[in-house]
Amino acid sequence: MVVDRRALALMVVLVLAGCGEPAPRTGPAPVTSPIVEAAPVVSGGAGPVVSSGPVVSSGPVVSSGPAVLPGAAGTGVHPRVVRHGPRDGKRVALTFDADMTDAMAARLRRGEVKSYANLRLLGILEKRRIPATFFVTGQWAEEYPEVTRRIVGNPRFEVANHSYEHAAFTGDCYDLPRVGPADMTEDVAKTFRALEPFGGRQTRYFRFPGLCHDRAALQALAPLGVTVVDGDVVSGDPFARGPDPVVNAVLSQVKPGSVVIMHVTEANARYTDDALPAILAGLRRRGLEPVTLSELLAG
Ligand SMILES: [Zn+2]
Repeated sequence: MVVDRRALALMVVLVLAGCGEPAPRTGPAPVTSPIVEAAPVVSGGAGPVVSSGPVVSSGPVVSSGPAVLPGAAGTGVHPRVVRHGPRDGKRVALTFDADMTDAMAARLRRGEVKSYANLRLLGILEKRRIPATFFVTGQWAEEYPEVTRRIVGNPRFEVANHSYEHAAFTGDCYDLPRVGPADMTEDVAKTFRALEPFGGRQTRYFRFPGLCHDRAALQALAPLGVTVVDGDVVSGDPFARGPDPVVNAVLSQVKPGSVVIMHVTEANARYTDDALPAILAGLRRRGLEPVTLSELLAG
């Protein structure tokens, strides 16, 4: 059999990156209408998930009771899926996924790649004071505790859950290794346990690896009281061969209320930092203002 080496290389990239165009889904169609975060209803044993500690990582703990985390939903409720925020405003959310599969971790161990943390990207966001939301895998936070602390230490950055090891929650997701149906709930719960000790602006937002989910995957998250966030602008940064395609992908799709999906994984999304200044300039020209997910979804 003749194997096209370029096709093989692309397949490897797809597997390693794990994110991008959503794979065909067997579950319900994603919600396409604007979703405005409703205030969670507090009730006995099925109330919203609350933070177990101080929400802000520095400063005195205010004794005003536990804060309800953004995205928290009643436990036992089939999670809502959000693709974007209100279309009638001027706000957009820039989100950055921090993937870390076992294969990526192995490449790091073998010294085949330098880093999956894009520090230059963080520096640009920090210097320009751009709000952003980071969907972090448990394995990435454990690989980069210092970088995770840097993220949570920024009052403009929110942290959300992107699974523990970036495995597939459906059977047809970029050939990523599969999370068994019995292990889905624990995978996501374990990630919250890995992220929560870092403090900062924690949330109950969750994004599936590769955006792959079906009814069974959503139902598995019901005990956790989360809101699932897909996004409506796929930047394609893990596949890009330069910054221009990333800039064009974002600016050609973005509109008021958009949730933009990018990556903070330097070794397999190496042009995101180069693309960011032009993306920010393009948003500014259109009068679009980057905000955190919780701010976007609050209306
Ligand atoms: Zn991802």
